[in-house]
Amino acid sequence: MKIDRREWDEYAFKDLFGDRDALLILSIPLSSNIYDDSWIWDGEKSGLYSIKSAYHGIKRDKEGNEGEDHSGFWRQLWRLKVPHKVKNLLWRVVLGCLPTKSQLHLKHVTIDMYCPSCNMVVESIYHNLVSYSFSQDVWGILILDVKVGDFEVFDVWLDAILQRFDHNRVGKITTVCWALWRARNNLVWNKKGVTVTALVTLALLCLENWTNAQDINFDVSIESLLPGDGSDHWVKPHENTIKVNIDPFS
Ligand SMILES: [Zn+2]
Repeated sequence: MKIDRREWDEYAFKDLFGDRDALLILSIPLSSNIYDDSWIWDGEKSGLYSIKSAYHGIKRDKEGNEGEDHSGFWRQLWRLKVPHKVKNLLWRVVLGCLPTKSQLHLKHVTIDMYCPSCNMVVESIYHNLVSYSFSQDVWGILILDVKVGDFEVFDVWLDAILQRFDHNRVGKITTVCWALWRARNNLVWNKKGVTVTALVTLALLCLENWTNAQDINFDVSIESLLPGDGSDHWVKPHENTIKVNIDPFS
């Protein structure tokens, strides 16, 4: 807060919190009077602590937990049936760790703030993944109306998506978000573009492969395997020779 004024310090907020948290904190009403801070026990009207009210408070919490609220944002996010890299991306977005140009600018990196794809607006994650015309074409192919919520803030949008769509659709939407961010990085770092169809195909294939890999009853076809595949064993090198072992997945 600004010292001696009844205002939030919005600039400090932008450095310390992600868009979602900043929006939630800014919506907290401030008192119209200025008093010195003091400790208040909210279990009693007098504001003074009593053992009796603490006991009732603990009992209330325990009863509340029995009918626990499972609709929390993070709980829903971690429960998504999508590859971990998709969850990791969403987590980084919500924490404000994804290096879009507007985020880099907030961290005092000297850089132009324009979107590397259209070069017309300040690059935000909401623009990249939701409102940019290329992203809109992607959502159009999937026949998903993802323009939800009044705020053009990704975290708020994601929260609305979690509420509005069923598990399958949320899985597709979030995996496509991952593919859109990947395409953006390919453009920035490798100067490689991608078509709308190729991006959607990649995202859906990635999700399908991951889903199949989770299913222990999934029948993996062995038709494409050749006799002897999978029967290789490591053998130690001959004397006075060096063997180089390479892990293709690292
Ligand atoms: Zn753009």
